[in-house]
Amino acid sequence: MGTIEFDVALINGKLIYDGKVTLPIEYDGFAKTLVTPGFADAHAHPQVIDVGEKRRYKNSYDWIKRRKLRIDEKAIREDPDISSRLAAATMLLSVFDGVTLIALTGSVQGNVLALRSIYVHPRVVLQPTILDRKGWLSPQEFLYVMQSFLVESRNVYVGLFLHSLGLASLDTVRTTIRIAKEKDLIMAMHLSEGVYESQTMRELAAMNDFDAKSQLVVVHCFTEPSNCKMLFRGVVSCPTSNMYLYGRTIRSPSNYDALGSDWPLVTGTLRTALSQAHAVSGRRTLDVLINATVGGYRIYGVDWAGDALIFDSDLAKVLESPAEKPKYVFLEGREVIREGTINGSFDYRYAEKMKENVIKQAFEKYPVR
Ligand SMILES: [Zn+2]
Repeated sequence: MGTIEFDVALINGKLIYDGKVTLPIEYDGFAKTLVTPGFADAHAHPQVIDVGEKRRYKNSYDWIKRRKLRIDEKAIREDPDISSRLAAATMLLSVFDGVTLIALTGSVQGNVLALRSIYVHPRVVLQPTILDRKGWLSPQEFLYVMQSFLVESRNVYVGLFLHSLGLASLDTVRTTIRIAKEKDLIMAMHLSEGVYESQTMRELAAMNDFDAKSQLVVVHCFTEPSNCKMLFRGVVSCPTSNMYLYGRTIRSPSNYDALGSDWPLVTGTLRTALSQAHAVSGRRTLDVLINATVGGYRIYGVDWAGDALIFDSDLAKVLESPAEKPKYVFLEGREVIREGTINGSFDYRYAEKMKENVIKQAFEKYPVR
């Protein structure tokens, strides 16, 4: 246990000024800003390193159809070395930024290998992506992956991710729902990203006897946020990618439950999404902070005891700038970042370098001409 005096603290979604608190962490002392639990990134694609040119797309399907990628995404997902180094860089950069929980979609093999290759990472919700396209998992393959990898690791939780209604056959949707039900897993999916899909999804859930209100997390939903809030377990907003692709996002924090970085290696970790969400929220600082911390833990049902961040800077700066790194990060009470470093030996610049190297190599190896 440790006793922390602070100027300001966000503790389990409450803001407290000039106080003292005892927490189950290895730290005694002072914090200008204390945040507990830390930040939760409720949606991230660690293998995405190119997103196409900036222009106004109508919706997610329009983007996937018209974008011109400079890199072969499928080849990256299938390359265990590159996809795992991308995931490792994502997790390290995130932890240096104070992200203590991250939900990872994309290459399950890459994400699992990454977890085995680094010894410091946030709590992770693994969300293998199910999609009817070559190079992605089918539901049957997902079951195989679950059984073979299943996750004795500490702080790793299994979920599953259906890419989207438009890119999955009815049969795949049904099977994904069935697996979520049978294995009692939280299912997540992209929904209502420039299109109206909430009613269809509600009906599909009802037809398959699936309690979407308690088991389905939906991502984006800027087209109809209040319907999504009402019908499903949780709404994850990704303001950074939404603004980039469509010039719009959910502004009111009452209309979503958690924040996602979406493309952490392209546009930055959850901290960029947090700054952006705050900027468009109309000064609803506390509500945005709740969504960026406990919100993500709640929708995935993850425990947060002993997760905490200690900043040397004031809260306004933390909100404004992702460059404002926590001095200490605690996970389950253990100190994982001390004085901005892991083990005193490397800091976030090491993770930056790692990211630059692997991205450079990926572009050299799998260019699209
Ligand atoms: Zn996404």
